[in-house]
Amino acid sequence: MGSEHEKLISIAEAQRIVLDHVAIAPTVSMELVPALGLTLAEDIACDIDMPPFDKAMMDGFAIRSADTAQAGVTLKVIDHIAAGGKSSKPVGSGEASRINTGAPIPEGTDAVVRIEDTKWSEDGGAINVLIAAIKGMNVCDRANYLKSGAVVLKKGTKLGPAQIAVAAAAGAANVNVYRRPVFAVLATGNELVDAGKKPTGAQIRNSNSPMLAALLSDDGVNVVSLGIAMDDLASLTKSIEYGLECDGLCITGGVSMGAFDFVPDVLAQCGVQVHFHKMSSKPGKPTLFGTTEKGTCVFGLPGNPVSAMVGFWMLVRPAFAAMQGRPDELPKFVEATLVGSQKPAGDRDSFWPARIDPDQSGRLTACALSWHGSGDPFGMGLANGWIVRPAGSPAASDGDRVRVVLLERI
Ligand code: AMP
Ligand code: MG
Repeated sequence: MGSEHEKLISIAEAQRIVLDHVAIAPTVSMELVPALGLTLAEDIACDIDMPPFDKAMMDGFAIRSADTAQAGVTLKVIDHIAAGGKSSKPVGSGEASRINTGAPIPEGTDAVVRIEDTKWSEDGGAINVLIAAIKGMNVCDRANYLKSGAVVLKKGTKLGPAQIAVAAAAGAANVNVYRRPVFAVLATGNELVDAGKKPTGAQIRNSNSPMLAALLSDDGVNVVSLGIAMDDLASLTKSIEYGLECDGLCITGGVSMGAFDFVPDVLAQCGVQVHFHKMSSKPGKPTLFGTTEKGTCVFGLPGNPVSAMVGFWMLVRPAFAAMQGRPDELPKFVEATLVGSQKPAGDRDSFWPARIDPDQSGRLTACALSWHGSGDPFGMGLANGWIVRPAGSPAASDGDRVRVVLLERI
């Protein structure tokens, strides 16, 4: 029945097909902060030993441990070295240099005694060391973290704030990354009006365009908003042709079996090869994926907001991660303890908006939210994840372990 791409396929199969068709983005060189959220197209090696010198880790006194085998030794203070400074005075036996955190320890010394473990002499020219200070105490040796030339970030690493700090410390002020993808977002439907308008008659507000634009922006994708296309061939063709100029095009609505669901026909006319058109998820069954000859990825997501969101998380997100050189970034499922109950899953993987939070002992719990089905966006407003019940799962009750996917950090 129907052509090959009309077959209902599993989410895993759909993801495999999408990933098989995604081309990796070209690389660009840029400064570190604008590269936030992008992915390294090269290994980053550190160009110096770290730390580059034997460094004091505490405010105190640099001493010779041979002098301080026992507590109570008095040492003459000959210098004061601040961070960024370097002493030209070697420290001899019976001597110490005052030192601040981050400064290089002076020649002759091999330990730092904390200021709180010393007492100044009356005249301020010497200290009494109140403890037995051993070799290496409060000193970080040169190259203790790593040696010059060590790879600190691997190609394929997504740059978050911590990775940007690492690149900066390693001397990589500019990095080669995969270019930020550009995705167009197009809502379709004669019934749609923008959020700023009050719907009249049979109209409803377009919540999908802002949702998808926000999801994409949140992940560092540049968004081209194509607004709303009417359910007619001319309007759809114009917008879709425009969208096909981007790396990706997300269309919502018009992909089901209704008489006015023209999106698949228009895509075919615009040269899009459709690889599948039905995915075994609930909601989200009429989900379509295709590509053009030049490599634009087209996602036809169902018009119902929650269905569109499922399609985004299961397919669109892994696709642009792959464009960015991270082909293994599929949604991560974890287990949580169910609060409440769940009906049997039926013959498709089912997604239910949920609140997922750690309990007092730190174990995740999943509480199904009140929700009226795929057309109801309001359940998602409180959700930070989904309870995902694989096809064929039996009913689940309070205390059962269920699979969840987290949509935000908790
Ligand atoms: P469709 O996939 O075009 O058959 O639409 C399915 C349902 O989703 C219909 O009730 C539409 O009114 C609704 N819908 C379609 N597009 C949007 C949108 N952009 N925002 C909110 N709801 C939509
Ligand atoms: Mg429609």
